[in-house]
Amino acid sequence: MTNLSTSEVPIKVQHHHSHETAFSLEGKLILITGGGSGIGFEIAQCMTYAGARIIITGRREDVLKEAVTQLGKNAHYFVNDVTDLSSLEGLVNNIELAHGPIDILVNNAGINMKKPALEVSDEDFNRIIQTNLNAVFALTRACAARMIARKSGTIIMISSMAAYYGIDRVVAYAASKSGLEGMVKVLASEFSPHNVRVNAIAPGFIETNMMKTAMSSDPDRMNRALNRTPMGKFGKPSDIGWAAVFLASDAARYITGVSLPVDGGNSIGF
Ligand code: NDP
Repeated sequence: MTNLSTSEVPIKVQHHHSHETAFSLEGKLILITGGGSGIGFEIAQCMTYAGARIIITGRREDVLKEAVTQLGKNAHYFVNDVTDLSSLEGLVNNIELAHGPIDILVNNAGINMKKPALEVSDEDFNRIIQTNLNAVFALTRACAARMIARKSGTIIMISSMAAYYGIDRVVAYAASKSGLEGMVKVLASEFSPHNVRVNAIAPGFIETNMMKTAMSSDPDRMNRALNRTPMGKFGKPSDIGWAAVFLASDAARYITGVSLPVDGGNSIGF
């Protein structure tokens, strides 16, 4: 038996959380852009398993409708094009009027384009930046204003390995995702005093339509990606989903301003 003098008695740790409650999203309202397909849909699915209520957005109503059917009664959709920046305040307002405060925002909607840099027109470049960067900022600002007023909230960006190292033929995409990485750090530092956390997930090579489009015509690229991934396989969209559940939950309450690679070791592979 240990014999502690009064001055050595350890501070009593308060266990407010069991592991189930620490990782739970019970009752939280989550807005996921591009949540009808691919990685966004799996984030929605995993968050539903964790107890959350889900709002997904996208441009194709048929895709969203089908997704909500699969997600179940705690999921709803709003048709919205994130590049229509002037619509985003109204979107957030309508969601909150119908469903209550948005606790967590996941900026997932994104597009890619593979072209040698010299063939990328200003229009091409702007299109990618508008979706992957300008829209993320505008929607984040709309949600963060409300989160800050409520002194509670979490924001997750979906970055990419393209922000970490030079992948050829994705100059606009890499610029947009590198922009997100900078935004995460600034917003985390501005919003921390208001109890709002901001983080990114950087997926490695994940099996979705976007990746299949980028890889199917280019077996060399696919082999290069696999060869520098120590785990030797591509990721599943649910690998990103569970990482998002963690970052959104109270288990990550002291984590802000980071970009978490979920990549089978791709970013440290030789
Ligand atoms: P998908 O193309 O499968 O899904 C993209 C989703 O975004 C769709 O649901 C699409 O719906 C939505 N979307 C696209 N443009 C808009 C828009 N203007 N307004 C609203 N919604 C939009 O791609 P992934 O699931 O693979 O990608 C999701 C995120 O993950 C992206 O940010 C991507 O950059 C990132 N990522 C993916 C990787 C991978 O390996 N797959 C690797 C690294 C990052 P709709 O067309 O109906 O609008």
